[in-house]
Amino acid sequence: MSYENLAGRTAVVTGAASGIGEAVAVLLARQGARVALLARRGERLERLAGKIRADGGQALAAVTDVTDDASVAAAAARVHEAYGPADLVVNAAGVMLPNPVERGRLDEWQRMLDTNVTGALRVLRAFTADLVAAAGDGRAADLVNISSVGAHVTFANYAVYGATKAALTHLSQCLRSEFGPRDVRVTNVEPGLTETELRSHIDDPELSGQLDGMFREVGPLAAEEVADLVAYAASRPRRVNLRQVVVLPTRQV
Ligand code: NDP
Repeated sequence: MSYENLAGRTAVVTGAASGIGEAVAVLLARQGARVALLARRGERLERLAGKIRADGGQALAAVTDVTDDASVAAAAARVHEAYGPADLVVNAAGVMLPNPVERGRLDEWQRMLDTNVTGALRVLRAFTADLVAAAGDGRAADLVNISSVGAHVTFANYAVYGATKAALTHLSQCLRSEFGPRDVRVTNVEPGLTETELRSHIDDPELSGQLDGMFREVGPLAAEEVADLVAYAASRPRRVNLRQVVVLPTRQV
């Protein structure tokens, strides 16, 4: 599939070391965007950047921990130095750590809140001026947040993860009222089960097994299928904002 209007754009993609973020980065680069790859695993980012360049694209690996203010600020400085201001920011970095709330896993709660919510805000803070300026120049400007269908649907043991995603979804909606009048689009994407590394961090074997069973039963989306929606949304004419996209495997109800 090819998309118009992505060539020449400058994209920042968090969570680009694997899964949805990686697939988004590859697709945007293939469509002619310059892509800054942000995540913590530098080797993965370098390998991906090399692959994108070998395919004729432009990519910059910027090791970043979105839970760390200084790290995000340093990444923004690198992006600005290499590419100038960004006009497309994709928040895909995220962690999902399910456990019954009664286990009191404050460590996991803090990590999810700080990555999935405050992390997205840190990245937004670093690139808001870029997005507003791009839109002010008459160019397309996009913020895309990868939330989850878990923002709406309740799953036992996933309460805190779901709450972080509900917060991100609501944040996306509220941001439209600040950014929309300034021609910056905000798109909130809510995928269902998608084959990535996300579930590999679950530390309870029973919960991990349950989720594996759901994946087998439903047949997950591929990360590339979620990336397709991100590229589609960002390549619409600039007056068209897909505000909210829920994408599920057909068998996930
Ligand atoms: P992955 O685990 O494959 O990707 C998550 C990415 O986030 C990795 O690249 C990881 O890289 C990065 N990341 C994690 N913590 C940090 C951090 N502190 N700083 C910077 N980067 C970080 O899973 P997905 O691709 O599935 O996840 C992408 C998004 O999609 C997440 O927000 C997730 O909640 C959401 N989602 C996923 C679904 C699914 O079924 N897979 C369904 C619905 C939503 P590194 O470890 O190198 O930092």
